[in-house]
Amino acid sequence: MPFSRLGLCQPILSALSALNYTKPTTIQKQAIPVILEGRDLIAAAQTGTGKTAGYMLPVLEKLRHQQTQKKKRIRALVLVPTRELAIQVAENTASYAQHLPLTCLAMYGGVDEQAQKDALIAGVDILIATPGRLLDMYRQRAVYFEETEVVVLDEADRMLDMGFIDDINQVFDRLPENIQHLLFSATLSHRVRDLAKTVIEDPCEISIAAKQASKKNIQQWLVTVDKDKKSALLSHLITENQWDQTLIFIETKHGAAKLVSQLEKRGITAEAFHSGRSQAVRAKVLEDFKSGAVKYLVSTGVAARGIDIEALPRVVNYDLPFPADEYVHRIGRTGRADAAGEAISFVSKDNFKNLCMIESRLGHLIERRVIEGFEPKKPVPVSILNYVPESKRAKQ
Ligand code: AMP
Repeated sequence: MPFSRLGLCQPILSALSALNYTKPTTIQKQAIPVILEGRDLIAAAQTGTGKTAGYMLPVLEKLRHQQTQKKKRIRALVLVPTRELAIQVAENTASYAQHLPLTCLAMYGGVDEQAQKDALIAGVDILIATPGRLLDMYRQRAVYFEETEVVVLDEADRMLDMGFIDDINQVFDRLPENIQHLLFSATLSHRVRDLAKTVIEDPCEISIAAKQASKKNIQQWLVTVDKDKKSALLSHLITENQWDQTLIFIETKHGAAKLVSQLEKRGITAEAFHSGRSQAVRAKVLEDFKSGAVKYLVSTGVAARGIDIEALPRVVNYDLPFPADEYVHRIGRTGRADAAGEAISFVSKDNFKNLCMIESRLGHLIERRVIEGFEPKKPVPVSILNYVPESKRAKQ
């Protein structure tokens, strides 16, 4: 089915064809008509499925019919967990709206607020904001919601994980009652559903994440390795396989800095990406990674949330993520919009329970590869696929 059958106007269709979006993804096919109808929606869709265009295209289609850019009055609000995601969504929006007279703004904390305030005063149609800075601006009367027609909660599960529930509720309390609510989340957990219930009545529900937890275009494999050999293994794989652009996930900021220097000692140049670095440095590092000037980016999971790179060829879980959904999120960073991708995980014996949970979530075992010279002294057993974590056993 082409985009032209979804009821989008010519200026949007032209923008999509300039971006080489030839046909809608599954979430786009399902979400766009529902949103255009004006219904509330909750959707389980992970990053990499095309969810941003899934909600933003119909929002643009709806907004283009009315007067735009009224001072301090936003017409669509997208709440996101991180500044990186705010920037990414705003960039996507600007490219989708390039032939429309609509404006958008990414608004987030950690940077001077004056420029954001000035933009709001001048008039913004679509505001993509992290909750804290949004509330700040609201209290300073730089933004009003009475003309807001639609609110999107993007990565709702992540926002709850990051403790934004009170901020989200405060924002929702201030929004007009009859606006359209759209909630996107990697998974529709009980907590996400509870949040949805408080604001959304009778929403349409779309779920594509669970079925597609393991996308066919992503080749997943793991290496069992002793903990103290992981950095040597990474250097070996990079050199032997001549890996290009690779996003490496690691648990802590400190670990990221240490790994970068370990790689450097072996002649591999990498950069660390985490919340301990300034916003300006992070922006520069990300730009260099996107352009290929930096090939290896070592990032903590949270910092990496907003990284969106067209067809990232490879991600490495240097540390295995927890919980299992985070694994699904991470591998969604590669193989985007049907390009081929590779996701490699390093697993040591003390990750066994975690591995069981991940493989149970996927519904299959991940292919294991043995790398000569790195066979673990402490082997990792094969997972039990119906593994139930102890914390949940009592409830069953
Ligand atoms: P998202 O899940 O919104 O983070 O999008 C993942 C990536 O897919 C982004 O880089 C988008 O630019 C790209 N994308 C989204 N929709 C399409 C489409 N219909 N065709 C090609 N690429 C797309």
